[in-house]
Amino acid sequence: MALADPAVWRDMQSYLCRYHGELCRQWFDELEPMRLDGGILEITARNSTQINYLQQRCRDPFTEAAQNITGALVVVNFIGPNGATTPQGGPTRSTGDLGSDELLLSPDHTFANFVVGPGNQLACAAAKAVSEQLGRAYNPLFIHGGVGLGKTHLLQAICHQINDAHADATTYYVSCDTFMNEFMQCVQNGQMHTFHQRYRHVDLLMIDDIHFLTNRERTQEEFFHTFNTLYQNDKQIVLSSDSPPSEIPQLEERLISRFNWGLVTRVDQPCYETRVAIVQKKAELRGLPLPNDVVYFIAAKIESNTRELEGAITKVQSLAALRQLPIELKLAQQALGDQQTIVVNPQPSIQNIIDAVTNYYGVKLADLQSKRRHRSITIPRQVCMHLARKRTRYSLEEIGGYFGGRDHTTVMHACRTIEGRAQSDVSFAAQLDEIDEQLSLASNN
Ligand code: ADP
Ligand code: MG
Repeated sequence: MALADPAVWRDMQSYLCRYHGELCRQWFDELEPMRLDGGILEITARNSTQINYLQQRCRDPFTEAAQNITGALVVVNFIGPNGATTPQGGPTRSTGDLGSDELLLSPDHTFANFVVGPGNQLACAAAKAVSEQLGRAYNPLFIHGGVGLGKTHLLQAICHQINDAHADATTYYVSCDTFMNEFMQCVQNGQMHTFHQRYRHVDLLMIDDIHFLTNRERTQEEFFHTFNTLYQNDKQIVLSSDSPPSEIPQLEERLISRFNWGLVTRVDQPCYETRVAIVQKKAELRGLPLPNDVVYFIAAKIESNTRELEGAITKVQSLAALRQLPIELKLAQQALGDQQTIVVNPQPSIQNIIDAVTNYYGVKLADLQSKRRHRSITIPRQVCMHLARKRTRYSLEEIGGYFGGRDHTTVMHACRTIEGRAQSDVSFAAQLDEIDEQLSLASNN
């Protein structure tokens, strides 16, 4: 059993910062590598919320970092402070004996990290009141509003608050989908007892996106009884929805009226000042130094919702990481596409593509043509293939031939990989745009 090498850990942190900056949080500083044993690198986290979150959201990138730094087939595992591999006394203890599908709590979604402004102050105050007096403040609490405006964040904040202050309270936090699926499953398997046990014996039931109950008559009926049981026992119910109760299509009248018994409150779009504060808060959580002019620029440019504000921060962060430059206004403007539009040359040459890509990633053509499989080479190589496919008329075979005699299936795979990644990863999509832009500039000369 060898203690993990601190230098390896430091290098892993820089790797994560450079290639997965949007994932990194300040609280990662609290993580500690414990031991590297039998190909498993164990990293300790502080509590079960962190462990759950890391296991589900961060294991792959951490493993990727560990493999790149050590050059060995290491797998990362997150454990508790006393070596527990499965979280002990989880934050949300569910009842019943079936495996349950509770929603994953993000350690970021606390009240402390929620920025209060005119658009959400009532909803936030209500959520706090509820978490201080379960079942006695507003019951139910019904939060509605458009996407990305903080409904899920508030629900999770209530959960965190209850876990911290009332460790003995039983909470159950699920999506409406889970409620519907578990109901159907229990009906089919004759396990209604388990279902009731799970949903009717909690101190706090939270269902996210309850508007999906639309049209589901049997589930609505079951939910009606769940609601009544909890309500009669002074148990807290918190719901979120994209619209107020009366505007959820095909929702039974008796449910609409019950949803209105407690407090129905709306979250609205954040105003400019709130957006500024949100950008500052998100940057702080990521440990990202953002100069004020960049903060103001992002807050002014992105008006729609908070999720997109975060996406904009990610784009700026990735471009800076990639170019190894400090974050400045000019870079932010580039990252968010705030430049004069450029006339695109429809057919650059392969040489133009190679120049743009090798410049951008700081690699050599010989590396791209070699057999090397390190990530720092495979990505530029795949980007070349993708751009050649997209911007030139060369066939798959010709492209493969150019990049080290690879066959057409390899080129096809490269194109799919790049397109897939661009769809799921905004920062990578921003990189591609950036290279495409360089390409247009170059091929215009
Ligand atoms: P919704 O559930 O309403 O679609 P979310 O709660 O998922 O929206 O919010 C989207 C993102 O925006 C989350 O990362 C959340 O933390 C963030 N967010 C929304 N409102 C705020 C706020 N007032 N302060 C800080 N972060 C916010
Ligand atoms: Mg949500």
